[in-house]
Amino acid sequence: MDAPLEQHFCRNPEEFFSRSIEARLPDTSNELLLKGHMLCAAAELPPLSGADASRWFGDTARLQDELLREGRLVVQPVKPGSNTEAGVLMRVTQGKGRKPPKEEVSLRDIDPIQFQVVVRGNSNPLETLDQKLAYMRLHPGAIYLNQQTSYFVEELDLSKKIAWVIPRDSRKIEYYTECREHSVLVLAGGGVARAAVLPSDELMAANTPVIRSGQATVHWRMYGFRKKSKKDHSIMDQVDLTLPSVEYPTRATWMDLPGVVLQPIAQEGSSVDRGGLHALEHAMMAMAPLCCDIEVSELSCQHTRRDSDPNRYFLLLYEHQKGGTGASEKVYKGWEQLVGQAVRLMEECPCDNGCPNCIVIPGCGDYNHGLDKRVALKIGRALGFGVASKASAISHASSTLSERSEAQKEIAQPEPQKASAPPPAREAKRQCFEHLKTGGQRLCLDLD
Ligand SMILES: [Zn+2]
Ligand SMILES: [Zn+2]
Repeated sequence: MDAPLEQHFCRNPEEFFSRSIEARLPDTSNELLLKGHMLCAAAELPPLSGADASRWFGDTARLQDELLREGRLVVQPVKPGSNTEAGVLMRVTQGKGRKPPKEEVSLRDIDPIQFQVVVRGNSNPLETLDQKLAYMRLHPGAIYLNQQTSYFVEELDLSKKIAWVIPRDSRKIEYYTECREHSVLVLAGGGVARAAVLPSDELMAANTPVIRSGQATVHWRMYGFRKKSKKDHSIMDQVDLTLPSVEYPTRATWMDLPGVVLQPIAQEGSSVDRGGLHALEHAMMAMAPLCCDIEVSELSCQHTRRDSDPNRYFLLLYEHQKGGTGASEKVYKGWEQLVGQAVRLMEECPCDNGCPNCIVIPGCGDYNHGLDKRVALKIGRALGFGVASKASAISHASSTLSERSEAQKEIAQPEPQKASAPPPAREAKRQCFEHLKTGGQRLCLDLD
């Protein structure tokens, strides 16, 4: 009972017993999933007509074109005098060394790239893992655990997609391994957008944040690992690795927070992005099953924010699964409720600095480093959520009234004027919030 949601239900049992049964429906709009099933249909009932593809899989004209372009499907010539009402007829191409489509569609995992774990000298694989998990758990030098047995990973053969491991006595291994990874999310254009409906209208009247949802591409890379002592978790060694980046399409929902929320917090010297937004995203992920009827594991966030990441100042959640599972749409609909419940979770948790009952979650790409519950609460309260929001918003509004008008002035001012001649020491601490409510203008802050 140490998950944040379970703790929430312990504190609020009436919410648990008054809930209706959840509907669990698979999302059939995942393009990776659809492509696999279209290939299976074309292989098992050839030829697959355009009309049948639409009837079974919906509007898939773009996917058909993609499969034809990739050479997975070919158009079957129509005999003279045949009925052409069914549209284009397609067949599967069997390339050399290519598996039949049914073997590429797994009921357990949507990722078509799978790695086998094989013990040296054996032929039967211990387990099969998808590409991202394989890089994280089966990189050379990793200690891999399977059925309470420890294995040392000797080699990860990227071409054959096999990880070669050898058993090791776990009592003689003094360390465990922790991978170093980084994700960059590239947001595509289009999608949907709406103005947020926030409790703190007075503060947000002229600065209503926009919630957006749409397609995105994840660029994930694992660039090394750390060896950490089993005794005291100290870092014993740090190893660099060169592994290919993993790129995949997904869907994301995000909020473009206005400067009037972020600026005062940043001016206090707090870490807005790595500390506050990251912690708030963790709390939102923890409460997603309550508000959006999805599993925590369906979502991810920008765990490792670097200065060069374009979206580091967005409050953003994206779908963990390649191609998405429909979670993003639900998060978009329930966004305000989700932020409100996340703030409530942090307020009700008695810890001071964050704990596994509120913002510390398993699977964080940055191992929960740098999370700042205090800053996450400030952001949530500045948006008008939480029991302390009213007083907080008023004091925040009065204390930052002059800053707010300054902020609005800054939005209206072109950046070069502001950046005319900052002293060198201050320039180093300068940060820019882009894509604020200003329609893409830059709002720069001096953090001194
Ligand atoms: Zn994280
Ligand atoms: Zn806590």
